[in-house]
Amino acid sequence: KNKARKQAKASTTQIKQAAVVGAGIMGGGIAYQSAYKGTPIIMKDIAQSALDLGMGEASKLLGKQVERGRMKLDKMVKTLSAIKPTLNDNDMQSANIIVEAVVENPKVKQAVLAKLEQDMPEGTVLTSNTSTIQIDELASTLTKPENFCGMHFFNPVHRMPLVEIIRGKKTSDETIGAVVDYALKLGKSPIVVNDCPGFFVNRVLFPYFAGFNQLVVEGANFAKVDKVMENVFGWPMGPGYLLDVVGLDTANHCTGVMAAGFPTRMAIQEKDPVALFAKNNRFGQKNASGFYKYV
Ligand code: NAD
Repeated sequence: KNKARKQAKASTTQIKQAAVVGAGIMGGGIAYQSAYKGTPIIMKDIAQSALDLGMGEASKLLGKQVERGRMKLDKMVKTLSAIKPTLNDNDMQSANIIVEAVVENPKVKQAVLAKLEQDMPEGTVLTSNTSTIQIDELASTLTKPENFCGMHFFNPVHRMPLVEIIRGKKTSDETIGAVVDYALKLGKSPIVVNDCPGFFVNRVLFPYFAGFNQLVVEGANFAKVDKVMENVFGWPMGPGYLLDVVGLDTANHCTGVMAAGFPTRMAIQEKDPVALFAKNNRFGQKNASGFYKYV
């Protein structure tokens, strides 16, 4: 963390206005956290329904703070007004930093990032919240990869302290410094890591998910596995529930990236339950149906 702070000091880019592209589970959470911690943020999506969900989630979280007496109503209103939802790319011109948080698909991300780079003013820092895709792969279609790095938040954004900042081969120190600075402003604990599929956390987490999926394929009852991991092993949630929180579509995309990156250790398993659920439109908590059903 101290090293990260030193890097922040080396940066001259002041982040006064942020933007997030993709208003899903992560984009909505990033918008909330940024507004809550005092950096106004523009939240862009291609679907009005996603923007409405993102804003709804932010008001719910803020409402809870007011209910618990931790926030005054006027601060809630001020925080909400610091999030500007939009469907229009041109509204992001004033941002000093853009966090891309669209679907975990390299082709979609490359296209979104290339367009953002083309439209954004000189000096804007561009980041991706990708969970697993290598930063150098995403940077390959950019003309200024020095201004780009990974900024990987964890779910739920308002509760998880860690942010992985991923340095691509061509990322400049200035860019890393600005992103570390922004992460610290958001009250997060940034770590700067090297680039590889899954970075640091998902290189640990996805083999764990693979172990769980294999158990299920071999006939284990997923709910019992979760109960043991929660009640006896003592983790806050078991792997099945955690996969529902992450989103089974997203987890399935990540599994594919990890398998391509580590073909011998992380090969895709036959009858992988996450892949089966995702194929059958069971995306986890986001659409109330995954390993578990939600009402
Ligand atoms: P999500 O499915 O909840 O949201 C994705 C959003 O992107 C949707 O609202 C969709 O409308 C929008 N979108 C798609 N194409 C777009 C485009 N061209 N322009 C603007 N918006 C577009 O997904 P999520 O869980 O928020 O994941 C987003 C990213 O964050 C992924 O890269 C994922 O790997 C990463 N991530 C997810 C988690 C998690 O636990 N869910 C954790 C860390 C990182």
